[in-house]
Amino acid sequence: MTITPLMPVYPRCGFRPVRGEGSWLIAEDGARALDFASGIAVNLLGHGHPHLTQAIAEQAATLMHVSNLYGSPQGEKFAKRLTDSTFADTVFFTNSGAEAVECAIKAARAYHQNAPEESERSDRFEIITFKNAFHGRTMATISASNQEKMHHGFAPLLPGFKYVEFDDLDGAKAAITDKTAGFLVEPVQGEGGIRPASEAFMHGLRALADEHDLMLVLDEVQCGVARTGKLYAYEHYGIIPDIMASAKGIGGGFPFGACLATEKAARGMTFGTHGSTYGGNPLAMAAGNAVWDVVANDEFLEQVRSTGEKLRSAIEQFIGNYPEMFDLVRGKGLMLGLRLNDQVVARDFVSHLRDNHGLLTVAAGDNTLRILPPLNIGDAEISTFIEKLSAGSADFAKPEAA
Ligand SMILES: *Cc1c(COP(=O)(O)O)cnc(C)c1O
Repeated sequence: MTITPLMPVYPRCGFRPVRGEGSWLIAEDGARALDFASGIAVNLLGHGHPHLTQAIAEQAATLMHVSNLYGSPQGEKFAKRLTDSTFADTVFFTNSGAEAVECAIKAARAYHQNAPEESERSDRFEIITFKNAFHGRTMATISASNQEKMHHGFAPLLPGFKYVEFDDLDGAKAAITDKTAGFLVEPVQGEGGIRPASEAFMHGLRALADEHDLMLVLDEVQCGVARTGKLYAYEHYGIIPDIMASAKGIGGGFPFGACLATEKAARGMTFGTHGSTYGGNPLAMAAGNAVWDVVANDEFLEQVRSTGEKLRSAIEQFIGNYPEMFDLVRGKGLMLGLRLNDQVVARDFVSHLRDNHGLLTVAAGDNTLRILPPLNIGDAEISTFIEKLSAGSADFAKPEAA
């Protein structure tokens, strides 16, 4: 037998973390790494944050899980906080980002197919999505992305998705038919290379959705929960969605997600139409409430914005030293992407920084290195990051022949 006990779907690297302390990870062999990946935008308070870990420990000892057949004081409390601080009127809790997107897709279809008034019902089902998007790994969410590498071996895909160029409003408009149920878009593409949508695009989608009675569904699984310096990225654009998927940072490391919707958008999600055994259990809600205690206030968000500016300008200043390696920095808040020039492969540079300089980042599409630190980093972490990036660039750039 050659298969590993862990199903070999990830090409795992040699760094094997066993402990976390703030913005640092410590490996089995004692090696330390500065974590500017945060479990891919998950650990927004870093590792071992006392408020979050205490809330989880206390809830685990009090009541870990009960069925959604019972009343949920913990879920009601967190759902109320989410609806109070966003566009949404109602929330469905899930266990992951993909499930939050699944719920959003179901809600967008049910808005048309299960409208309360017979006269409002239609069979619309098609969702217009955007190229290089990432929405998760379930059958529906891989079908929602045009990325071939995620489809291979899993045919047939789920029907009902149309792919249009990201940020192409004319393309989105042209794709609308009498079967269209809505749009599904990341305001800032994550896996696609930290690419923020333009103002005109987001405003245009909102207007098209209004004009054609379509659901504007946002996937804020990666860019949501204070990551961009706003609680949710749609706030940067001055528009509101109808439905939104959230996950990753929402539990600060505890796995859960949420599908948020307006009352109107959720009109098809009636008794018995959806469910989840674990979704929103007391332990998940304790984690969510603890994260919200820390991040859902102006001071914290302002700090993310100012830290983001500092980090961004430090990187911009630095990359001027290596114009042959680096192209540009883009993103919002502490969701930053460093685009590399063609002669440097992002994946190779990420490995080099990790293996030789103890710095964790994440590769993304469009030859971009993702910089996703915990949101509570300070000047010390920024300087250490620049030192490591600088050392890593110096010995990566050096030709072997020298
Ligand atoms: C990570 C991600 C998902 C999937 O989340 P999982 O928790 O891995 O299922 C969906 N959408 C976006 C934008 C993501 O970044």
